[in-house]
Amino acid sequence: MEPWHVESPARLESVLSALRSPAFAALAWREAPEASREALSRVHERGYVEALLAAVPAHGYVRIDPDTAMGAATGPAMLRAAGACVAAVDAVAAGEVANAFCAVRPPGHHAERARALGFCFFNNVAIGALQARAVHGLTRVAVIDFDVHHGNGTQHSFERDPGLFYASTHQDPFYPGTGHANEQGVAGNIVNVPLRGASDGAAVRRAYTDTILPRLDAFAPEFVLISAGFDAHRDDPLSGLMLTEDDYAWITRELCAVARRHAGGRVVSALEGGYDLTALASSASAHVQELMAAA
Ligand SMILES: [Zn+2]
Repeated sequence: MEPWHVESPARLESVLSALRSPAFAALAWREAPEASREALSRVHERGYVEALLAAVPAHGYVRIDPDTAMGAATGPAMLRAAGACVAAVDAVAAGEVANAFCAVRPPGHHAERARALGFCFFNNVAIGALQARAVHGLTRVAVIDFDVHHGNGTQHSFERDPGLFYASTHQDPFYPGTGHANEQGVAGNIVNVPLRGASDGAAVRRAYTDTILPRLDAFAPEFVLISAGFDAHRDDPLSGLMLTEDDYAWITRELCAVARRHAGGRVVSALEGGYDLTALASSASAHVQELMAAA
């Protein structure tokens, strides 16, 4: 982004430094490769992909959207963010690892088929989900999104395809303005639970227990991806929800349990938002700890 921007390199530094602590010594680390044009084009128009890559400046910044700017390193970063999800799906589908967390920037869930939006260029999780179907022959793939913002791009990529499932809890009214409960896709494959500002962990857990988990169980996903944004944390400067590390651990446990019931435990999670550096590091740690416990 730009030097003053909240979507900053320090976010990933804080997550990575937390995950390098002794508590995570058992983690296996892999470097993210760049996504192929083929993988990107399952979600994005080819012309958009090429135009975006051509727009990356040699120095300085280029504004793509009022909230979304590119610097010289954005090109490889966005290719590797999408490529991380593709490689993680490949590794989990092949049984090399039980599950994976993709510590990536830029985030992805606002990126539309042919439009960068809200700090996002390529829709990393959607690209991972379509990799699971196209390359690994799975027919039912789910994305669960607990970022405080609605994942408009993921919903729009999935809403006409009954083999894909997308569920989101998010603050409402809030950016980007989508994600109302009546947006249900085809065959109810889209599940939105909008939450008023100041909703706490109890409200979010109710949304999962009453709505998202039963619908996800009924869908019976063969692969579960998570849009893991931690900006619904009570300390986050961008939002009004009041989640804590314990809530992120609880949600992760529940999603891993669904994956165990239907998907052989296959889970790939990818970082989305989270803008308080301390809360981001501790929340991502709580999330990864549960993934490790489920592995
Ligand atoms: Zn967000």
